[in-house]
Amino acid sequence: MKTKLAGNLIQKFTITIWLIAFGLAVWNFKRFGSLMYLGMIMMLGTMPLALIYGRVYCGWLCPMGGLLDNLLARISRNRPSPPWLRHPATRIAAVIFFGGLGLFFWKRFPQGLALNWRGVTLGPILLLMMTMMLTAITLGVLYRRRAFCAHLCPTGFLGALLSRASHYDLYRQEACLDCGKCERICVLEGKTWTDGKGAGPECIRCLECAFACPVQAIAYETKATVPAGKPASNCP
Ligand code: SF4
Ligand code: SF4
Repeated sequence: MKTKLAGNLIQKFTITIWLIAFGLAVWNFKRFGSLMYLGMIMMLGTMPLALIYGRVYCGWLCPMGGLLDNLLARISRNRPSPPWLRHPATRIAAVIFFGGLGLFFWKRFPQGLALNWRGVTLGPILLLMMTMMLTAITLGVLYRRRAFCAHLCPTGFLGALLSRASHYDLYRQEACLDCGKCERICVLEGKTWTDGKGAGPECIRCLECAFACPVQAIAYETKATVPAGKPASNCP
């Protein structure tokens, strides 16, 4: 419970910082537009954590992921994403698309896009983040709230790549009842618990499955402890 509370507080802290930076950058782009680099610096600075702990940036630190968790928990239709969205090619296409869109905004609006309304100007990073956020909210309402994180986010793609080398993972222990609840509630839509061992590199370490497990059979351990755990393939 303490871990869950800590996760919520960290998420709310990063959301608050990001919203303040976002508001200032929109209000006065010339003066505060560079605050938008803070988000990128934080992302690049904390992403190497994936090499040890997995995608903790996505689960605990990403302001966009935090907003999706906090805004959409009650309004998401919580349905499985369609096959086209789950297809691996869609993820590659999304990385190329959002990367290209970022470059386009960068070249087209280096001084920001002036909206001619109360001096509001949107910088290139803001434009990209707003496009991604709108996409994430739309998908999060229609399907699972983290559908964007699971299938489209370029940062999540990078995190999942690095996470392959992580030392820690979630493992089901002997107490597991094979009820399958952890797989059903996972916000990553079946992209975890796939290799018969731990939750795997796609897992964002949100720990929702661990808190939902009726017998607390999910442990966050180093990979060296795998033999003590229960293979996930025993679960339905
Ligand atoms: S780890 Fe817990 S939630 Fe998952 S199948 Fe086992 S008993 Fe069920
Ligand atoms: S496996 Fe558990 S911790 Fe990992 S993303 Fe799914 S619900 Fe979150």
